[in-house]
Amino acid sequence: MNQKSAHTFARIPVRERGRGGGLRHVYIETYGCQMNANDSEIIASILEGQGYTITSDPRLADLILVNTCAVRDKAEQTVRNRLKQFKSIKRHNPDLKVGLVGCMAERLKDKLLEEEELVDLVAGPDAYRQLPAMIKDLEDGRKAVNVLLSLEETYDDIEPVHIMSNGISAFVSITRGCDNMCTFCVVPYTRGRERSRNPETILREIARLRDKGFKEVTLLGQNVDSYLWYGGGPKKEFYKQPPEVRASAVDFAELLDRVAAAFPDMRIRFTTSNPQDMTDRVIDVIARHPNVGRYIHLPFQSGSNRILRRMNRQYTREQYLDLIRRIRERIPDIALSHDVIAGFPGETEEDHAQTLSLMDEVVFDFGYMFAYSERPGTAAARLYEDDVPRGIKIRRLNEIIAKQNAHSKARMKNYVGRTFEVLIEGNSKKSDAHWMGRTLQNAVVVFPKTGKEKPGDFVNVHIEDTTGATLLGKRV
Ligand code: SF4
Repeated sequence: MNQKSAHTFARIPVRERGRGGGLRHVYIETYGCQMNANDSEIIASILEGQGYTITSDPRLADLILVNTCAVRDKAEQTVRNRLKQFKSIKRHNPDLKVGLVGCMAERLKDKLLEEEELVDLVAGPDAYRQLPAMIKDLEDGRKAVNVLLSLEETYDDIEPVHIMSNGISAFVSITRGCDNMCTFCVVPYTRGRERSRNPETILREIARLRDKGFKEVTLLGQNVDSYLWYGGGPKKEFYKQPPEVRASAVDFAELLDRVAAAFPDMRIRFTTSNPQDMTDRVIDVIARHPNVGRYIHLPFQSGSNRILRRMNRQYTREQYLDLIRRIRERIPDIALSHDVIAGFPGETEEDHAQTLSLMDEVVFDFGYMFAYSERPGTAAARLYEDDVPRGIKIRRLNEIIAKQNAHSKARMKNYVGRTFEVLIEGNSKKSDAHWMGRTLQNAVVVFPKTGKEKPGDFVNVHIEDTTGATLLGKRV
C-alpha cells in the first residue's frame, strides 16, 4: 500500500483551503492490505455521499483519516511516526481533525485517544457508516470512538469510489472478517467474524466497473475459499440452517464460476486463498474459464507440521503439497505465491529446514516473507513465549528470502522466448516510452510503446528477457 515518505508541509494561506462550514475536506491515507485499500474506497463513497470532498493533499484537508494496519508492530509504529509528521500541518491549521480507522484503531480502541494527543476520532472496520455522525461529534467539539464489530456488515450497498485504483483494475470485496483463528493473527480480533456478501450485489458492482471501462477485478477476502452466501449472517450460523437453505447456498466455486461466465471480457482474479478450504471445484472453475487469472496466492506459513499445529493452521505439509500437485496437474501454467513466517515461537532449526525444503518442492513464483512479530491479544501471545532470538529470526528470514529470490528468477526465466497476453495498466515506472502490464499469471511485463495501444488493452507480447522481477518484451 502507499507508504508515503516524510513531507515538509509548506504554509498554505487559509483562503486556499477548502473553507466551507465544518470539516468538509477529507484526506484519506491507507496502510496495510488490499482489504484496507478497498475499505478506504468505501469510506470515500460514504463521505462523498454526505457531501464531503476527498482531497489528495493533507495540507488542504479539514479532516485527515488514516486507515491503519495492525498485522505487525512495525505497521503500527509507521502510523505513530506519521502522526508526528501531521503535527506540522496542525500547527498551520489548528482546526484540523485527525482520525485513525481500520485494524490498529480496532485493536487499541479509545486507548489511542490517551496515547496520541493528535487523534480525535477512532473507528473500527465495521463502523464506517457511522463516520458522518462521528465527524458531527468532532464539529461539536467532542472526540468520537466507534469500534463495534458487526456480524452482518458487508457494505454491499455502497459503491466504492476508486481512489486507490488505476482505472483498469479494481478490488471487489466478497467477504469480511475471518473465522480461522490462526494463533499469530490479529485479523479475527480487528475485523471480526466472517460474513459473505450477497452474490447479486457483487455481480452488479462488477457490471458497473465494466461499464466504467475497468478490465480486471480481484475478488477480495481474508479467506476467499470460505465464501458462503446463504441469505446473510455470519458463516458460523450456516450449519444451523434448514437443508433447503444449505442446498441453495453459493460457495466460492459457484461465485467464481458465475462471475467468470458473466464477464468473459474481463480478467477475474481473487485473493487470499486458504489451503484448508480450497476445493477441487475451485481449481476446476479456474481451469474452465480462460479469463480467470492463472495465479493463486496460497499462504503456507511453515513447512513443519509441528509449527503448523502451533499456528492452528488446519492442514499438514503433506496436504499442502498435495493441493499444489492437484492445482498444477489441472492448470499447468499456474503461478503461485505464498506467505511464510520465520521464527515462530518454538521453531527449531529442523522446523526451519522443513520450511526451506517445502519451498524447494514447490518453487513458488513469489512470496511475502516475514519474521514472527508477536501481536498482543492473539492466541500465540497468550500461549507461547516469543523465544526465537531476533538474530536467529532474521538469519532464517534471510535464508528464506534468498531461496525465494533464486526461485523467482528461475520461474521468470520460463517466460523468455514465449508470447503472452498482457493487460496494459499504464506507463512503465522507469520510462514513458514503455508500457507496464501483467500476464494472466500476474507477472509484470514492460515493453516499448508502438503508438497503437493504450491502458486497458489486451495485447500479445513476446518475452525476450527478464530482470528476475520483471519480464521484458516486444508487442507482436
Ligand atoms: S486465515 Fe488466518 S492468517 Fe488469514 S486472516 Fe484468517 S486468521 Fe489471519
